[in-house]
Amino acid sequence: MRYRELGNTGSKVSEIGFGTIPILSGDVPVLPDHYDPSVDEAVEIMMHAYRMGCNLYGTAIPEEYGDAEYKLGVFAEKVGRENIVISDKRTGRGRYERGISPPADFTFDEVIRRLSEHFSPIRCSRCQRCVCPQGHEIHLLLRQYDYYHLGKRSWALKRIRMNIEEVSESCRRCTERLCMKDCPQKLMIPELIERIRELTL
Ligand code: SF4
Ligand code: SF4
Repeated sequence: MRYRELGNTGSKVSEIGFGTIPILSGDVPVLPDHYDPSVDEAVEIMMHAYRMGCNLYGTAIPEEYGDAEYKLGVFAEKVGRENIVISDKRTGRGRYERGISPPADFTFDEVIRRLSEHFSPIRCSRCQRCVCPQGHEIHLLLRQYDYYHLGKRSWALKRIRMNIEEVSESCRRCTERLCMKDCPQKLMIPELIERIRELTL
């Protein structure tokens, strides 16, 4: 394993980190069925990575990551908290433990500007005001479009294919389009749904 200095924090982290999605057992529909390890299995998986030299473990929002943070905690206690670095996220801003400074805070416009240098992103701020009477969670689909262009192509396509045909059909038949009523970004949601659907064709 190779290691790098983490900015000016004084910490060295392995070049290969461990994202904790594969060890969670939460209700996350994008996960394959076999991603459902017990606590003991999850800890052993992380121990295996640790033995290979991995000392950087990433987690995120508890609701999305199910019990991953709990399992990571059990692992941290076993391996020694001082021996690993944990990256976490909060309200859209990165945070690293062990006194490591958070990265610069970017405004939504700055993020969009930077993404626009590489592709044409969807300007969704994930405010979730796009309530659909059909129950479609629009913001989840919209963000997959950006994930698709940010190196998570197969993961995003898998999520999109779960219901894009159903959503697309609903939107084509929809006359009121209530989802757009309170969108602060004035997004043309049915058109964006079609743009996302085209990724799957
Ligand atoms: S256009 Fe209609 S069906 Fe489609 S997301 Fe909006 S409210 Fe729902
Ligand atoms: S209301 Fe608009 S900006 Fe907010 S989550 Fe829905 S589509 Fe995105």
